[in-house]
Amino acid sequence: MFLEEQIKKFRKQTYAELQEVKKQFEHLITTTLNPIIITDDQAWIINANKAFLDMIGYPEDEVKGKLIYKFSIVEKGTYKTTAGELVYINDKFFEYTSEKVSELTREGKVHNWKTYYINKNRVIIPVTQDIIFSFKGTRKRPCAFAIIQNITEQRKTEIALIKSKEAAEQANQAKSSFLANMSHEIRTPMNGIIGFTDMLLETELDSEQADYVTTIKQSGEALLSLINGILDFSKIEAGKMDFKEIDFDIEVLAYDVCKLIQPRIINKNVECLCRIGDNLPAMVISDPYRIRQVLINLLGNAAKFTDHGEIELSLDIEAEWDDRILLHAKVRDTGIGIPTDKLDSIFRAFQQVGASTTGKYGGSGLGLTICRQISRLMGGNIWAESEPGRGSIFHLTSLLKKSNERQVKRFPPVSLSRKKVLITDDNTTSLEMIKHILESAGMFVTGRSTSEGALKAIEAALNTKNLFDICILDILMPGMDGYELAKRIRLLCEKQIPLLAFSSSADRNANLCEEAGFNGFLPKPSSRMKLLKMIERLLSETNEKGQLEKKEPKLVTQYSIREDVKHTISILLVEDNPVNLKLALKLLTKAGYGVAVAGNGQEAIDMFSTEPKKYDIILMDIQMPKLNGFDTTKILRDKGFTQIPIIAMTANAMQGVSEKCLSVGMNDYISKPIKREIVFEKLREYVVEKE
Ligand code: ADP
Repeated sequence: MFLEEQIKKFRKQTYAELQEVKKQFEHLITTTLNPIIITDDQAWIINANKAFLDMIGYPEDEVKGKLIYKFSIVEKGTYKTTAGELVYINDKFFEYTSEKVSELTREGKVHNWKTYYINKNRVIIPVTQDIIFSFKGTRKRPCAFAIIQNITEQRKTEIALIKSKEAAEQANQAKSSFLANMSHEIRTPMNGIIGFTDMLLETELDSEQADYVTTIKQSGEALLSLINGILDFSKIEAGKMDFKEIDFDIEVLAYDVCKLIQPRIINKNVECLCRIGDNLPAMVISDPYRIRQVLINLLGNAAKFTDHGEIELSLDIEAEWDDRILLHAKVRDTGIGIPTDKLDSIFRAFQQVGASTTGKYGGSGLGLTICRQISRLMGGNIWAESEPGRGSIFHLTSLLKKSNERQVKRFPPVSLSRKKVLITDDNTTSLEMIKHILESAGMFVTGRSTSEGALKAIEAALNTKNLFDICILDILMPGMDGYELAKRIRLLCEKQIPLLAFSSSADRNANLCEEAGFNGFLPKPSSRMKLLKMIERLLSETNEKGQLEKKEPKLVTQYSIREDVKHTISILLVEDNPVNLKLALKLLTKAGYGVAVAGNGQEAIDMFSTEPKKYDIILMDIQMPKLNGFDTTKILRDKGFTQIPIIAMTANAMQGVSEKCLSVGMNDYISKPIKREIVFEKLREYVVEKE
């Protein structure tokens, strides 16, 4: 009896406690500022607090006992009345019965959903809700308990932010296209200024006049490079820098860049070297124009800041995968160097090492910034190390795809194998590099760093009757120079060993070379293949008895073959603008090319169709009234003239033009203002060295 009493009492007490907790809980739900709802297992609303009613704007009796979907977005702003269809959670629709929803409604776990309610005025209210499920709840018994947070204000701020970001982007875009258009407009008249200054420099001028014109030319070029820099910079800023994917030979590109920089060190005691890693694949896929741009900038800086010693471009593989390589290019110089605390800031826009250097060396401080952006967009990076007063090394890495295209064979000519060669070069880096190239071709190489050493080596070879097959001599060497050395060798040896002058082009003097007894001349640096081919040619001109076969020895240069071809080349020049026409015409005829002019697209088509065999190449302006350059090219290609190289001349440096040129069937393009070196380079590429 007593026990029963006890149990009853305990039950009563527990019930009273439970009631108390329930009351507190209900009080909490009613008074809290967060909207709260409780639904049963079919999503019928069992209870909703005042905050929820306030949020959706319905009275309690229109909410309780209704399906939650009446008040929330279920499918594209409408709602389905049957539970078990689609629910909208975290910006996606789910089938209520699907596994995903089971996952999203796992019992006992607090889920955080993003969803939307719709109030009485059909205003959509974005919310996040913490929701917990208990599946013990059945029909009409609590199953889901949700605490809701109205995030309308937060969302408004987000939207305002997105809008202002879009507006800023639009403004930025407008700025970039303004810059791009402006630079285009400025480039066009620059065409005339720089081109005619070039022409003027070739006429008779007294020294004062020549000085003025040279200053105009230099200022024009500085302005142009500034415009190009700004154009690139704005393109990168606007995310508009375009990258092509083209198969190309990276070794050729490296030597090209060296050749281009050569004139800048012509009056300094600086040697330009180029070293290519043995494992570098012959052909790669990337954007050669961009890589070239970066290398020209780095090597150009090296040339600018170095007064003696050497500048060296070397290419190697940093890492290799099945289909890609990470290229590591280094540009080393022995110039003024860069203080350690400036090594990073020089890669930021408009930063130069010091105001004092700016005045002396010029430049905009944009170059390295653009290089860094380009290298990063190409999956690599750029950085520098330096010792002030001793020189700097700039490193560039870039991801390149391997090419499946014709893997160019870099096999050295067989005839060179086991031939004995003597190299004399006072620059030991250069000596080592040439030695490496020739040894890789199977030659037996003796290297000497002084003329005296070379003469001793020859005497020793004469004594053992084991004379060299060919000698390669640097020209500028301290003490006895290359000319003198060549003369001595000729006196020493009865046998006419072929002598090759391999030297920085600054000291090329054909007469002196021939007088001294040289048979060939190559500028330094020249590509491995060019060097090997030259040696092969000189060796083949020596007959069995060691006599040079030619009666009148003529110096073989890299241009020997080209010069003959030049005068037989005929160009069809299509240009409507009289200033540009005059410039291009003078430039080409002066250089010895045959030129026919078409004043517009139709005329070009007529002229070419009548005598297609007469022309070797077409240089085509893009912007012409009526039939523009693109359409003219298309018509020519459609008529079946697929072989003739067509090169566009465009003042439009904006994105997409180059693709357009290639897509209508042009082979290449040059941008205006047309520069003589570039025009000649293209003519060489597409006509002279076609095979
Ligand atoms: P700029 O057009 O002024 O040359 P860059 O961005 O190419 O612009 O270079 C920025 C600055 O970095 C240069 O002005 C120079 O002070 C420094 N610099 C770059 N390369 C070298 C180098 N090889 N040796 C010494 N200083 C260099």
